[in-house]
Amino acid sequence: MSAVHSPGGVTPIVALDVPTRREAEVLVRALGGSCRFYKVGLELYAAEGPSLVSWLTAQGAAVFVDLKLHDIPNTVRGAARSVARTGASLLTVHAVGGEAMMRAAVQGAAEGSAAGGACTVLAVTVLTSMDEVQLAASWGRSSLEVEAEVVRLAGAARGAGVGGVVCSGHELAAIRAVHGEALPCLVPGIRLAEGTAHDQRRVMTPGAAAEAGARWIILGRAVTAADDPPRAMEAVLGELRGVAPRS
Ligand code: C5P
Repeated sequence: MSAVHSPGGVTPIVALDVPTRREAEVLVRALGGSCRFYKVGLELYAAEGPSLVSWLTAQGAAVFVDLKLHDIPNTVRGAARSVARTGASLLTVHAVGGEAMMRAAVQGAAEGSAAGGACTVLAVTVLTSMDEVQLAASWGRSSLEVEAEVVRLAGAARGAGVGGVVCSGHELAAIRAVHGEALPCLVPGIRLAEGTAHDQRRVMTPGAAAEAGARWIILGRAVTAADDPPRAMEAVLGELRGVAPRS
């Protein structure tokens, strides 16, 4: 079992958004004991598949397989079962896929976890790369409020029995106001104060996300594209250590 660090009650997860296993291994070795939880997303999973997950778990790391599944319930159930069998600890589906699809994912993950692991399904609400204008445009509407949409999708996710949701740090308070501790939140779009937002729209610092109640934070380019990734990771951990854990 991996010893995952959770300073300030938040588990930092580094996103291995690289095209090859070799590059992933370089990052994992560089970060060493400072990161014990990695995210394998679409790019790396498409290139390297489940063997990369096995390699990470063999290093003692926990793995988040971020495939953001969105398909008919039967297909998603099978995919979730297969991902859970790899030993992944977290898996994402899109909440807009609907309650039946999310329930099927939870069922598939439980089936695949039966061998001994435990794979938690998280539902992605509104991508952190979207702002109000982009969200409205994608639904063909003249306006759509991000926070209200995130809270609505989180309600559907809770009804489907998922283990948590993915949202930006800006919606944490609203989700907690409605759902309390029932829906732990994973927060991408994390940037150090001096960092650039890149293509993200709804960003927040690690400390602010921790204070707002994030359960997990995703560290992508803030760490992996830094001149010195281990140093950037230390800066993140330093911020998190300064946050009092929630009781
Ligand atoms: O480099 P950056 O910090 O922007 O990377 C964010 C990571 O989090 C990416 O791997 C992206 O796929 C993921 N993510 C996201 N927004 C979500 C869910 C996951 O940015 N809603």
